[in-house]
Amino acid sequence: MKYIVTGCSNGIGRCICLTLLKNNHEVYGIDIDKKGKDLEDINEKFHFYRVDIGDKKELDLFLKNVEYIRFDGIINNAGFNSEGLDSCSYDEFNYALKVGLSAPFYLVKSLRYNLNKDASIVNIASTRALMSQKNNESYATVKGGILALTHAMAMTLRNKARVNSISPGWIDVSNYNESKKIEISNNDMLQHPVGRVGKPEDIAEMVLFMCSDKGSFINGENIVIDGGMSKQMIYHNDDYWKYKGE
Ligand code: NAD
Repeated sequence: MKYIVTGCSNGIGRCICLTLLKNNHEVYGIDIDKKGKDLEDINEKFHFYRVDIGDKKELDLFLKNVEYIRFDGIINNAGFNSEGLDSCSYDEFNYALKVGLSAPFYLVKSLRYNLNKDASIVNIASTRALMSQKNNESYATVKGGILALTHAMAMTLRNKARVNSISPGWIDVSNYNESKKIEISNNDMLQHPVGRVGKPEDIAEMVLFMCSDKGSFINGENIVIDGGMSKQMIYHNDDYWKYKGE
């Protein structure tokens, strides 16, 4: 089967590509960065396109390259941490929307007639679609928007493709992104009801499931994968939680 994966060079996207390749699928990877480690020498089943998906001209060049290829799915994964009211300019806000929302919309719109029957589209959202820290407006808007785009496209593409999203919580991508090595403390892990932060494989395995027949009755859905972090109720002095004030 043939899948497009955006943001294929690092992090969760790189893990998704490696997981699809390991399961004998063919991957058309897109990234603004150079080809990711572990993918450098795979040429037969991995086709790499260096594209800024926030730039329509570059997306159009990619689309021209693949116009006669039939696909079994599109994984809209590329994204970056964009900011909010305190520090995000008008142009930066709009660029975040282009990468996180306009590109997934345009890729699916342009390739919808290239999709094989029962294709699977998976959009990578975030638990930040429904909860926020300060100065997070552009990222939260992108992720909230992708949940709506997901159920809307699921209806338009009925009988043609299933469209779902995955909302990861904290995923430690350091094994797949050399520039994102961070210290994770014991408390960082223990605050999660499962006692650890997530790993890219937690997301990649769900993508694989959603692309397989096993996921064929899941449509228009958002699957939260966050170790239960967004389900916990937090009150001052309850369960070790302490509000420290401003
Ligand atoms: P990452 O930075 O490790 O990887 C993102 C990849 O997307 C990079 O290779 C980057 O070059 C690429 N990319 C960014 N902008 C692009 C553009 N304009 N055009 C083409 N490629 C572009 O990040 P990650 O943590 O693996 O994030 C992957 C997805 O998962 C993102 O959508 C992110 O919002 C989402 N997510 C991540 C976490 C987490 O904790 N890591 C949590 C929730 C959601």
